[in-house]
Amino acid sequence: EYKVRDGWRGGTTLRAVNDVSLTLEPGRTVALVGQSGSGKSTIAKMLLQLEQPTSGQILLDGKPLSRRRRDRSAYRHQVQMVFQDPFASLNPYHTIEHHLERPVRLHHPELSSDAVRERVLDLLRRVRLDPAEQFAVRRPHELSGGQRQRAAIARALAPEPGILVADEPVSMLDVSIRLGVLNLLGTLQREENLGVLYITHDLATARHFSDEILVMYKGDIVERGPADRVILEPQHEYTRLLAAAAP
Ligand code: ATP
Ligand code: MG
Repeated sequence: EYKVRDGWRGGTTLRAVNDVSLTLEPGRTVALVGQSGSGKSTIAKMLLQLEQPTSGQILLDGKPLSRRRRDRSAYRHQVQMVFQDPFASLNPYHTIEHHLERPVRLHHPELSSDAVRERVLDLLRRVRLDPAEQFAVRRPHELSGGQRQRAAIARALAPEPGILVADEPVSMLDVSIRLGVLNLLGTLQREENLGVLYITHDLATARHFSDEILVMYKGDIVERGPADRVILEPQHEYTRLLAAAAP
């Protein structure tokens, strides 16, 4: 549960997320769909530890997160986020290489500079950014929108996470390149055995790219199940509306 104080309405509290439970596992994608303001991004922020739940807890490998500094930092490596806006995870003044080097060095202090550079190039290859095009030495604004989101995904992969939270990862991109980026996330999930939480408004891509769909409405998960079932046999009224509107 996550309550926020809603001062504007005279000190009442708003329950942004009510009684929500979800499990992310390696090699699986869970899609989180739902109305605007239903609490999807709040769940992402709690998973990233940017917000603390008012009640309830996060378990990693079945164990509650410990408050110890080392464990907190390990958790922060484990769970990485891809934001709607690629610039959100990139500093406009730093080269792509600079962004990727730091987490690689933190993770592998034993590596030589050459070996770090090799890993950086490998990260770029994994997101299908061709090393021949010198993306490493460019700054974020010197990439196209789709390339920039790929670089942001490489940045998320650099700390070698087990979980990727993607909050509307393609909604700021041109329609023509959305599928390419979603396919990349799908490939990474399979090939690198990532657990992915895919937050979206788009039921069609949720169906195509996820194993399970969770539907949120006003802070609650009102429906969950295998993607096909949720879309073909929606039980909740809100899901029926969504499914009817989907192409
Ligand atoms: P969208 O699809 O538009 O991105 P969402 O499902 O991601 O919506 P959230 O961003 O999780 O929705 O917001 C849930 C509710 O909590 C909204 O009513 C929002 O205004 C409120 N909220 C979120 N964060 C805060 C905050 N830090 N302070 C006050 N209210 C907040
Ligand atoms: Mg949101």
